[in-house]
Amino acid sequence: MNESAMPSLTPQEALQKYFGFPAFRAGQEAALTHVIAGNDALVVMPTGSGKSLIYQLAALMLPGSAVVFSPLIALMKDQVDAMVKRGISATYINSTLEPAEQLKRVQGLVRGDYKLVLIAPERLRSANFRSALARVTLSMLVLDEAHCLSQWGHDFRPDYMQIASARKQLNPKITLALTATATPRTQVDIVNMLGIPEAKRFVFGFNRPNLYLEVQYAPDLASKLNHLSDVILEFGTQGGGIIYTGTRKDAEMVADHIRTSLHRPAQHYHGTMQATERARVQDAFISGDLPLVVATNAFGMGIDRPDVRFVVHYAMPGSLEAYYQEAGRAGRDGLPARATLLHATRDGMLHEHFIENDTPGDQDIRRVAAIYSESDGMLMVDELIQRCGMGETKARIALEQITNVTGPLTSAVIDGLVVQTERRKEHRRALLRIMNGYAQTDSCRRRLLLDYFGDDESAEAARCCDNCDEQNVVGEFTNTPTRKAETQSERAALIVLDTIAVLRGRDHGVGKGKLAQILRGSEAPEMARYKANRNFAKFSTLRLKEIEGLINQLLSSGYLRPSADPLPVLMLSTKGEITLAARAAVNVSLRKVAANAPVTPGGKPRQRGPESTVETTRLLLARGLTPERVAAERALAISTIYSHCAELIAEGSLAIERVVPIEQTQVIMAAIEHVGSAALLTPIKQILPEEYSFHIIRCVAEDWKRTHAKPADGG
Ligand code: ADP
Repeated sequence: MNESAMPSLTPQEALQKYFGFPAFRAGQEAALTHVIAGNDALVVMPTGSGKSLIYQLAALMLPGSAVVFSPLIALMKDQVDAMVKRGISATYINSTLEPAEQLKRVQGLVRGDYKLVLIAPERLRSANFRSALARVTLSMLVLDEAHCLSQWGHDFRPDYMQIASARKQLNPKITLALTATATPRTQVDIVNMLGIPEAKRFVFGFNRPNLYLEVQYAPDLASKLNHLSDVILEFGTQGGGIIYTGTRKDAEMVADHIRTSLHRPAQHYHGTMQATERARVQDAFISGDLPLVVATNAFGMGIDRPDVRFVVHYAMPGSLEAYYQEAGRAGRDGLPARATLLHATRDGMLHEHFIENDTPGDQDIRRVAAIYSESDGMLMVDELIQRCGMGETKARIALEQITNVTGPLTSAVIDGLVVQTERRKEHRRALLRIMNGYAQTDSCRRRLLLDYFGDDESAEAARCCDNCDEQNVVGEFTNTPTRKAETQSERAALIVLDTIAVLRGRDHGVGKGKLAQILRGSEAPEMARYKANRNFAKFSTLRLKEIEGLINQLLSSGYLRPSADPLPVLMLSTKGEITLAARAAVNVSLRKVAANAPVTPGGKPRQRGPESTVETTRLLLARGLTPERVAAERALAISTIYSHCAELIAEGSLAIERVVPIEQTQVIMAAIEHVGSAALLTPIKQILPEEYSFHIIRCVAEDWKRTHAKPADGG
């Protein structure tokens, strides 16, 4: 289509003519009007919000041909087909085409046959291509996925640097850069690198009003799986759900847990699976046949299922960009959806560990450089890694940096590399701090996200976030008279809150373990300094585990929260402060306070008569019958008898040896130690041989819990 044939349409008319859409989405028209008036721009809008429409319409409305650089070679054909269908004369040029075909298209571009041409940036490596490009009547130069230009973006691509230099050479009238993820810092970087520092920035579309945001404090495996189960059960069989884990192992374990404990179809997905298997899971999910996927961050590109009802982050990602991009896969259809982050302080520490251990330091780089230079680059990678005597990831990164150096490895060059890695490390730490900040804030999470991306739009939403919910509760709280704490559990909760209030005032705060020891009245020498606390030993009749259970409940219901310190201590939330001041009732449940009361797995003390069915089982076992024999004698299911056994073991009235052979008990105990908790059986079962049944694992788990729940005073 040549330009004289282009009717002069208004943006609105062009939108209707080529796309058939009645109206622009937020920000589209403003950006388009700015560009077609001859100005440079940077557009930051999340994926799926309608960025491509802006450059497509601009290309149609401007005289000349628009050149669009994009790294997404695999998508180019489909994108161009869609444009051609709409009546836009467009094509693409990349390495998937035969050289003759590429040449033909380049000639067409020079002749002005196309309004828009998609080009892979690596084409710029060819001098011939560059000189052809210089002969094109350019309407504008467009850079899609512009964050690839910035070293601070999470997807830096060296080929993008060529676009910046080509732009200087071509000197287009208009430059338009677009990306879905760029923090204000990356935005500045992009416009500076491109040489358009004055470009107007259009940042919008980050608010997803149908997406409810929440963070659940989940310090251990059991609470993570519990919170996850709650979300899955709440949504039932509506739509799909994605659960992101931090590791492949967790992806497999959690998927298995969902299948065995919740009886819901779930599949895992991660990078080391066979490509065909990955494609099978992905297709099943997109088509709606599979409701739940438990995945690492390898899952996502091109997942465009509209009815994803929730995204749960089982572990915290290393940056807020990564988090929001993944969470944003929920609710594309505009219906209510939920983004839940399960937060454990440990997850943050794990990232810190990776930052320290993945990133080579000064000495590491010098060491790898020395070995590399000595070997004249002739050593095999693995051999070199072995000789460096450091972690493999670290050695690989250092090696990659060193081999990327084009000139000789002078000490000045090595100094430069050291500075670079230090800056990267610091940058990753900063991203992590921001992510942690999101997890731990008690103000509006939506506002925090929008501010982070530089989006000034209002943070309105149908239902905003857990913190806003809490504020509403507090609002109601302060306006309505509340019931005073009466029961033992309610008073105990206030004692916990009070202890934190006192400690925060005169100390540097404590974590959960220490708080439990204070309340329990531990005699350990390091606890002496807390003896003056008015609540010291207030819970001397409770077990440490029970006190910790109470603290956990106060954490997960938002009365307490962990501080943002590197070693977090407990703090009162606003809700906790108000509750304490009002001495109001808090809904927590405390196990029986009496010291040696038998406690069943369900947590309630059991009063059992001699005629009770469990008691009958106990008597028969005491006579030396096996559980199988007891089941046969009583004509009850074997699972019922094992349930009785578990209950009896938990309260200490049945020895584990009566039910499970000692060697098997030892193997199961080792598995529990490995998992680190006996709260859930699936992860334990998973690492045991097939023949270990849930029945016997449960019995051993009860025994483990009983012996590990004893007060651990004195150390
Ligand atoms: P992005 O490039 O930001 O990922 P796209 O431009 O591919 O997003 O747009 C995503 C979807 O939204 C496409 O199906 C597109 O046709 C549609 N879309 C874009 N703008 C509008 C609009 N103003 N009205 C209705 N649909 C739109």
